[in-house]
Parts: sequence; C-alpha cells; structure tokens
Amino acid sequence: MTTSSPVRAETDLGRTRRARRLGRALTEAHPDAHCELDHSNALELAVATILSAQCTDKKVNEVTPKLFARYRSAADYAGADRAELEELIRPTGFYRNKTDSLIKLGQALVERYDGRVPGRLADLVTLPGIGRKTANVILGNAFDVPGITVDTHFQRLVQRWRLTAQTDPVQIEHEIGALFPKREWTMLSHRIIFHGRRVCHARKPACGACTLAKLCPSYGTGPVEPAAAAKLLKGPRARDLAAAAGVDPELVPQQAVVAEAP
Ligand code: SF4
Repeated sequence: MTTSSPVRAETDLGRTRRARRLGRALTEAHPDAHCELDHSNALELAVATILSAQCTDKKVNEVTPKLFARYRSAADYAGADRAELEELIRPTGFYRNKTDSLIKLGQALVERYDGRVPGRLADLVTLPGIGRKTANVILGNAFDVPGITVDTHFQRLVQRWRLTAQTDPVQIEHEIGALFPKREWTMLSHRIIFHGRRVCHARKPACGACTLAKLCPSYGTGPVEPAAAAKLLKGPRARDLAAAAGVDPELVPQQAVVAEAP
C-alpha cells in the first residue's frame, strides 16, 4: 500500500475534512467501540475508572463484580473497612492509594452531593481521585453528556494523524473537539481508543493492516508489509480489521484474536 502525505500544506478546512474522514473510517472499523469498563451506574463507573489507573480494563472488570456487590453506595465506600477494601482491589495494583481515593470519594459524595455522583464537569473534578479525563468518561458514559477522553492512546493517535500539535491534554481536548460535532465526542473517543489498543499500538502500529492508512501522515511508523502488520492486530475482531484493510484475514494468528487489548 502506498500513500502520499495527506498533510502537506494542509489548510484548516482541509484538516477538518480529513479529521471527519478519519472519524467515518473509525466508525466503520470499530462498530463495537464502547466503554470497556463494566458498570451499571455513575458511581460504579467512577470507581472502575479510579481502579483503571496503571491497570488494564480487563483486570478491573475481573475485580469489580465482587466489589460492586459488596459496596453499593457512596456511604458504603465512605465507611469501608480499609483492610477489606484493599484486599478486594489489590489485583489492580497501587491498591493502598486507590483505597484512599475510594474512601475519600465516598466521603465527599456523602458530605457534598447527598451520596450521588454529580453530572457536571466543574463538580466532578473537585472529587478525590477524579481528574478531567475521568470526569469526561463519567459524563459521556453515565450522563450522556458529550465528552472527549484524552488518554494515552487518544493522545498518541491524534498526534500521529497530525490533527493537533498540542501536547497538553486539555489543549488537545479543545482542538480535537473543534474538529468534530459535539454529539460525536464520546463515541469518537471510544473509537480512537479502540484503534489505539487494537491497531495503532505505541511501539509497533499495524500500518500495513490499517484501514486509516490513506488518511494517515504517519503511515510507515510500523510495518507496512501485510503479513508482518496482520500479526500486530489484536482483539476478537482482528480478522475483520485485516479484511477491511484489504489484508488476508488468515494472516492474523489465533493468539492475536484472543489477545488482550492493552
Ligand atoms: S497507518 Fe499506522 S500510524 Fe497511521 S493510524 Fe494506521 S497504524 Fe497508526
């Protein structure tokens, strides 16, 4: 596959159009994109997001069923037995700090918000353990308020696509937000993060098996040869992703299909 540089002397309008094309290609590539942290309400999502720091979503999802069954309300976290809570969340790592955050979060919600998770960014970011990224995850997925989640995958991909030269997550959030309709922000974030976990990896992106190649100025950062690139795809839809990029799905090894997306 060969590409010409899509960003040479690109105007603002050209960049917006390319961003929208990237957005449409992502929609086609990842129809299964969603928040990968299991939850059934805003409190559970807030807790799962705190636990996901320095930990895979898969590991968090292994821990939360038992945790959510035992701790059902903000008051339960506020009055938690520290040793018991630590033991429950220990597999997610940094469990002492995370226990601190969960107990303080519970206390703050009880003291200031009647035990409920507030649905405004300005309130959420005042809560222990909740930064702007987490607040946007909660708004987008528990309150249907459009939010852009600039995590490590999002940041890497929009920079590879040269949609922004910013390095500060808040500036990135604003610049990328300006390129897309607000109603698309939450799903766009999921799709970009999906692409980062399954195709456009930090160290070896699967450029030769990527459906975005023609729109991407960083094509060639990873292997472009189909057989080498197909081996880098990850997740249960790895073979569909290969086929969509015009690569023989049989080149995707079985271990890639069952591999955990990082
Ligand atoms: S072409 Fe390569 S660098 Fe560009 S989005 Fe695809 S995998 Fe990432």
